[in-house]
Amino acid sequence: MAEKHFKYVVLGGGVAAGYAAREFAKQGVKPGELAIISKEAVAPYERPALSKAYLFPEGAARLPGFHVCVGSGGERLPPEWYAEKGIELILNTEIVKADLASKTLTSASGASFKYDILIIATGSTVIRLSDFGVQGADSKNIFYLREIDDADKLVEAIKAKKNGKAVIVGGGYIGLELSAVMKINNFDVTMVYPEPWCMPRLFTAGIAAFYEGYYAKKGVKIIKGTVAVGFDSDANGEAVKLKDGRVLDADIVVVGVGGRPLTKLFKGQVEEEKGGIKTDGFFRTNVPDVYAVGDVATFPMKLYNEMRRVEHVDHARKSAEQAVKAIKASEEGKTIDEYDYLPYFYSRSFDLSWQFYGDNVGDTVLFGDSDPASPKPKFGSYWIKDGKIVGAFLESGTPDENKAIAKVARIQTPVESLDQLTKEGLTFACKI
Ligand code: FAD
Repeated sequence: MAEKHFKYVVLGGGVAAGYAAREFAKQGVKPGELAIISKEAVAPYERPALSKAYLFPEGAARLPGFHVCVGSGGERLPPEWYAEKGIELILNTEIVKADLASKTLTSASGASFKYDILIIATGSTVIRLSDFGVQGADSKNIFYLREIDDADKLVEAIKAKKNGKAVIVGGGYIGLELSAVMKINNFDVTMVYPEPWCMPRLFTAGIAAFYEGYYAKKGVKIIKGTVAVGFDSDANGEAVKLKDGRVLDADIVVVGVGGRPLTKLFKGQVEEEKGGIKTDGFFRTNVPDVYAVGDVATFPMKLYNEMRRVEHVDHARKSAEQAVKAIKASEEGKTIDEYDYLPYFYSRSFDLSWQFYGDNVGDTVLFGDSDPASPKPKFGSYWIKDGKIVGAFLESGTPDENKAIAKVARIQTPVESLDQLTKEGLTFACKI
């Protein structure tokens, strides 16, 4: 089998890989120096589109429309862009063995790739119900969503089961976005999750009450406090058995119960922490010439003086850029500033759109109009720790308002009274 050698290899062809390629091009990369190896069949794209516009019944997003870097307002990089720059896109290629000592990657078909510098950008994979041994969980009516192939399968099922019934298992990002988009596709939608409210890792009870009320208003049914324990499929679809004894009929089941970083290839070869590959503030691992970015990296979050792993698109983009800048700087004997990241998450569903910045710890205040029955609800929340705002959430903010909440979370504005903060609400952030 042929062996290829590159100065730089990015392993993984997702969000981080695309933003890394753009940064390499900006910093200067010669034709043939950089390769991106991906098991996906397409050039890097903005993954968040898959649970949103990709599934719309009309005007759906399709490639090449959402290749990186359009998600952050940047230039779109179609496959031709890589060809023009002499960046090799090695697609449909799964790496099954990584030997960091000999700097060699081996693909499922036996091809070898050697590198001088490796950036690990393998992202995450979905957690499957079959991983927990849930009975019948390998049925063809059960869908997961991570890659474009998964989204295409779901699109086909939506077409085939027109106006059918959907059960969405999980109340996180994917559960909320998928429930909305299935409803927009005119499905009868039921969400099932075990927690007392949706998105419990981020939302307070007050924030969640708005979304649950809004979804109910849109006709989405929500069953909380129980889980799916088994599935029986026949020609008519799926019977979803819940732990509390109820049984739900479904044509389509979509499961969104979390992800797991893809670090398996490197086990025992690189230091890990908190489930990810441990890096410094330049995304260098403990192995010389090996970097890790995006979902797989556990890095020092300078702002909170703590090692963290972040599974969000904004960090995937920025960590990739930081790693490439660090690589290029070290080649020139220069240094760059350490990564200083302010966590930023967002989601969109129906006509709603929220943003969150900072850390969701400490006391909380809810402000604004969070009545799901309001014609134009607009509300937010602050998290306050040690007398300072550390986190801020806003639904339906303007770009300037979102900038304002990001600023208070970044500078950790001191707060004198929680009552005052509740009363002032968004005005507090906007006047800083
Ligand atoms: P990925 O983008 O997942 O890329 C990893 C790549 O590596 C993939 O191409 C994969 O095929 C490839 N790969 C893995 N293993 C191998 C191997 N062995 N050989 C070859 N290739 C391999 N975040 C937000 O902040 N907001 C959102 O609204 C949002 N929506 C999302 C919606 C969906 C449906 C999903 C799945 C995620 C969403 N996210 C969102 C999270 C965000 O997309 C991820 O955090 C981001 O994509 C991580 O980037 P990454 O480059 O680390 O990994």
